Amino acid sequence: MTTTVPVVENILGANERLAQTNRARLDETRTFTVNFMASPGAGKTSLILRTVAALKDRYRLAGVDGDVATTIDADRMAAAGIPAVQINTGGSCHLDAVMLQGALPQIALEDTDVLVIENVGNLICPANFPLGAHLNILIASVPEGADKPYKYPNMYRGVQAVILNKTDLLPYFDFDMDYFRRGVEALNPGLAFFPLSAKTGEGFDAWLSWLTSQADAYLTP
Ligand code: MG
Ligand code: ZN
Repeated sequence: MTTTVPVVENILGANERLAQTNRARLDETRTFTVNFMASPGAGKTSLILRTVAALKDRYRLAGVDGDVATTIDADRMAAAGIPAVQINTGGSCHLDAVMLQGALPQIALEDTDVLVIENVGNLICPANFPLGAHLNILIASVPEGADKPYKYPNMYRGVQAVILNKTDLLPYFDFDMDYFRRGVEALNPGLAFFPLSAKTGEGFDAWLSWLTSQADAYLTP
C-alpha cells in the first residue's frame, strides 16, 4: 500500500519528462503536433481523415496512429496521402511519451508542418500520459451521451478543445446539449467547443478555422 503511490508517481513523472523531450524535438523542427483522444467509436479516424483532407494543400502533414493491435487506421491515413507511422501498443490502452519518442525518428519532422496523432480509443488513461503535443483534442460523440464530462473529468481538464462529433444523429438521440456544455464548462472554463458531423461536414468549417489559426500562430511567429 505504501509503495503503490510512489511507483505510480515515478511512472507519471518519467512520462512527463519524456513528453518535454518530445516537445523540444518537435519545436526544434517546428512541427505543430495535435493529439486526438476519444472513446472507441467516437469517429476519431473519420474526423482525422476529413481534417487532413482539408489541410493537406495548406500544410505538410504526417500522422502517428496508436492502436492496440492493428494498422488499419494508419493504412487509411497513408491511403489519404499522409505519411503515417503505426504504433502498436502491444495491448496497452494508451500511447505514452516513450512510444511517441520511438516513433519520431521514423517521421521526416524537418519536412512536416503538422503532425496528427491518433491516440488509442480510451477515455481514462490517455489524459495521464502527455506526449508532448501542442494541442490535445478530445472527441466526444452524440451517441455516447451527455454525461461523459461528469464520468471522465480528467479527460476534459487537460485538453484545449472538445469536438462533439455525429451531430447528424442529434434528432435520434436524447442528448442534452446544455447538460453536456455545463459539465465541460465546470471542468475547463472557456474551452473551445466544436459540435460537428464528420460525416455530413456540418460545423466542420468552424473547427478547421480554429485549428488552422492555432497552427498558423505556431508556424509563422
Ligand atoms: Mg517540422
Ligand atoms: Zn491506458
